[in-house]
Amino acid sequence: MALSGLQIFKLLPKTNCKDCGFPTCMAFAMQLASGKAELSQCPHVTAEAAAELGEAAAPPVRKVIIGAGDMAVVLGEETVLYRHEKRFEHPPGIAILVDDTVDDAEFQVRLDTFKAQEFERVGQMLRAKLFAIESADAGRLAARVKKASDETGAGIIVMSDDAEALKAAAGPIKDKKPLLYAATAATFDAVSAVAKELGVPFVIKAATLEELSELGDKCVAGDFKEVVLDPMSANLQDAIRDQTYIRRAAIKKKFRALGFPTIAFPCRMTDEPLLKTVFAGVFVTKYAGLIVLDTLDPAQVMPLLILAQNIYTDPQRPMQMDQGIYPINEPGPDSPLLITTNFSLTYFTLAGEVEASKVPTWLLVMDTEGQSVLTSWAAGKFVADAIAVFVKKSGVDEKISHKKIVIPGYVAQISGELEEELGDWEVVVGVREAADVPRYLRGLGA
Ligand code: SF4
Repeated sequence: MALSGLQIFKLLPKTNCKDCGFPTCMAFAMQLASGKAELSQCPHVTAEAAAELGEAAAPPVRKVIIGAGDMAVVLGEETVLYRHEKRFEHPPGIAILVDDTVDDAEFQVRLDTFKAQEFERVGQMLRAKLFAIESADAGRLAARVKKASDETGAGIIVMSDDAEALKAAAGPIKDKKPLLYAATAATFDAVSAVAKELGVPFVIKAATLEELSELGDKCVAGDFKEVVLDPMSANLQDAIRDQTYIRRAAIKKKFRALGFPTIAFPCRMTDEPLLKTVFAGVFVTKYAGLIVLDTLDPAQVMPLLILAQNIYTDPQRPMQMDQGIYPINEPGPDSPLLITTNFSLTYFTLAGEVEASKVPTWLLVMDTEGQSVLTSWAAGKFVADAIAVFVKKSGVDEKISHKKIVIPGYVAQISGELEEELGDWEVVVGVREAADVPRYLRGLGA
């Protein structure tokens, strides 16, 4: 049973040392009780207290790992309903369905496409990491599961109504943590026994939330921690209701029976490809841990991965680049020098345009805690005196033979003050929009 903040407080060291990031042990205890902090944030808690805190320290949505190595997908550990309250922890895993309608030739195409399909965005590589393999034929299921795992390294969702077929297919790859799909009220004992024997997670599914809660209760009573919920929602309206209810019950009520990540099948809710993607996008935001698609069409996969990347970025910590000097198109001592902030989106947009210009250029990237040019200027971080200190310490003057720096057009107002701060440098106001950079750079050499 969940402990109150006061009960947790009694087990903490009560030194108010602040090492956990909270001003007092009581403040930390209250956050822990509401699932917004983790026990590991207090380095001083005793082993006895940690053991006693047990369930209170567990996240309201259990952690589940599917797959291994670089392809491992972590689900759960969510602590909030809304991203702005703290952050969402783990982006949903995207799984590609292969069922009995897919012949062997098409199966091979999907494996090959899967292996090759990666998307780079703001310095991160994005991809689907899972296959969901379903078959009514136990032999075919086992063969395809093994082949997909061996050839792609993907995490596998093994799908069958037959517990013995699940065991035969998942057993040979159990070290790669496949997910068994799925236990129903009728098959719970058999499927959960296979999961226990193999040491792998499994899905429980039921047509109503009441029945799903009953199965969840059985998981809690049986100490099954790595469980995924399928509410079997028939349409998008039901799905939003079910996913929201499950997340609210887990986080607001600490209802352990529904305190597990979920799986959703937008590919089975409509025949219209575009709608499948739209539905899947809804599940990215509310609140699926796994989303199953029936295609590797980049037009459908890539938008979801980018949406997940955006939603699951910590709103308090924008994606950022390291501060430093970035050479683009092999610049030399005479090449122009541009300066910008270390907000990833700013950097990659600008760097992409500079690269496209084919003009050798030095790009000086200043740490503004990941804020964009205007935001960081307004926050007093991308201002003349701070920029001048950075430019002088950056070492860029050892790479160039001139003393001319181009600042973004959006901060034209700091050019005079920056020139004063820099002394013998010439400060040039560049363009506002990245799209105008190629024309601007080519014009510099004219
Ligand atoms: Fe208290 Fe631990 Fe936080 Fe220190 S780190 S204030 S002991 S909860």
